Amino acid sequence: MKTRSWIPLLLILLLSGITCFGCKPKAAKKSPSEPHPPIAMKPVMQPGPGAGMTARPAPGGAEVQMKADAFLKGYQADLARLEKAQTTAYWKAANSGKKADFAAAAKAELALKQLHSDPGRYRTVQALRKEAASLKPLTRRSLQVAELAFKGNQLPKPLLEKLVKSSTEIEQVFNTFRGKIKGKAYTNNKLLESLRKERVGAKRKEIWEALKQVGQQVGPKLIALAKLRNQAAKKLGFANFWDMRVRLQEHDPKRILTIFAELEKLTNEPFRRMKAKLDAELAQKLKVKPEALMPWHYDNPFFQAPPPSAKVDLDTLWKGRKKEDIVSLAQTFYASVGLPIEDIVKRSDLYERKGKDQHAFCITIDRGADIRTLLNVKPTAEWMDTMLHEQGHAVYYKHVDRSLPFNLREAAHIFTTEAVAMLFGALAKAPGWLVASAGLDAKRVQAITPALLEQRRREQLIFTRWTLVMLHFEKRLYENPDQDLNKLWWDHVQRYQGLKRPPARNLADWASKPHFTIAPVYYHNYMLGELLAAQLRATLAKRFKTPDATAIFSSPSKKKIGAFFVEKVFRPGMRYPWPEYVRRATGHALTAKHFAAEVK
Ligand SMILES: [Zn+2]
Repeated sequence: MKTRSWIPLLLILLLSGITCFGCKPKAAKKSPSEPHPPIAMKPVMQPGPGAGMTARPAPGGAEVQMKADAFLKGYQADLARLEKAQTTAYWKAANSGKKADFAAAAKAELALKQLHSDPGRYRTVQALRKEAASLKPLTRRSLQVAELAFKGNQLPKPLLEKLVKSSTEIEQVFNTFRGKIKGKAYTNNKLLESLRKERVGAKRKEIWEALKQVGQQVGPKLIALAKLRNQAAKKLGFANFWDMRVRLQEHDPKRILTIFAELEKLTNEPFRRMKAKLDAELAQKLKVKPEALMPWHYDNPFFQAPPPSAKVDLDTLWKGRKKEDIVSLAQTFYASVGLPIEDIVKRSDLYERKGKDQHAFCITIDRGADIRTLLNVKPTAEWMDTMLHEQGHAVYYKHVDRSLPFNLREAAHIFTTEAVAMLFGALAKAPGWLVASAGLDAKRVQAITPALLEQRRREQLIFTRWTLVMLHFEKRLYENPDQDLNKLWWDHVQRYQGLKRPPARNLADWASKPHFTIAPVYYHNYMLGELLAAQLRATLAKRFKTPDATAIFSSPSKKKIGAFFVEKVFRPGMRYPWPEYVRRATGHALTAKHFAAEVK
């Protein structure tokens, strides 16, 4: 991630992760280098009685239906109005970078939040939900989604303020802390750069340790915050904060754990083999024995991404191209698969400008036709990926059934829109696409193809094992914040990532990861997005009768791809809770199998 300018607003949005934010700025943000904490959380809840098409309204339910219709009419109208004010203000701030614009965005955000903290309306939703059997399926679903938006926002103001204050304090530590080596302070970026370049093990260790120093300051504060968050969660009737966050994201905790257990099992062996190979390469490069490799020998301080491949530099293939070429390539490509984006590109802000947000995101202003993307396109491989990624979010929004009630006019889940965006973004590193759609030199692409595929496999496997650490550690952190967390962290790192625990180290290394503060209990959604992307590729492969789904995007049948996405993936919006949505879109429940088959 290049800057952290988005964090203050994100913080307001997440209110220390306590809310799940009503149907907020449906912006999916992405930094070109690392998965981004979400800017929006869906107001969703654990799957209740099928919001699908089964039960018929009970006789005598006409009165309840009328009551529900009247309530929802007012609620949806307020939601639409406040949300549009908020997304408009956010777009303006992200483009100008002006303090006053950010203040206005925060104010609009607060107004939207207040809608969902209204206890009177919450009671009405709850009462209506009790009579769900008498209601039409879409009314029922609309109330189910609304209930979650309200539920996470029912905390007493003093507790809410304490939560915000506490996480803001930690945020400030992250922003101002500078790791030291031999008494000299360095920025995080400088340390990361040095870690990538340094060849001497002892020096790498010093740099790595400097990167972890912030954990010592954050650790005790984060434990206090975790206890406060637990207190809030219990007040709202949840077992703990992890349980609350997961359920408010419309996940069933058991289902998530089952999917991740399957993922662990299926990637154990491929990861072990891949890591052995990577370790051999690193050992040779750094002149140590493979068994002597320590966490600081990997370029990424958390080992969440592989070191860059020495054999692939995709950017050299883009040399001589202009930034405008990236945009027009994406336009031509999306049109060729039957998902034109001219309208979206026209409303977007695509290139670097002073003061502008340096990342990338997609936003729907009104859950209607006004969809925009913000990017800072440059002629590089990473920006090609990001351009395709953000337009993936955009085409999803564009085709959600607009006849749905307003609060269901959204992607089925934050991870389903990520899945689509990741699926399209990944094409920018797919050899077939680079030649057929991007028009890059076929011989040069062919020469790097094995290394390109191997690097992608490494990225996927390493990221998977890292998300396992994040999921399980954070779950246990909230289950018991008083346990020996320093030890627990290294137990997890050892088990899932196969890294060696530095001997006799008893420091709060876990607390140096900002996500525990700014985007708590969220990481699983990145991984679920990857799993669904793989499952969608498998569905396409079956539908188009080919073993290689990615190849379809460069084949003559690609023009039929759009119709599949529109009908099966985009149109349903939030009509169904995500498990049912995934079954309908792909023919079976979400599984780690397809992802595992891609990385085996
Ligand atoms: Zn995204």
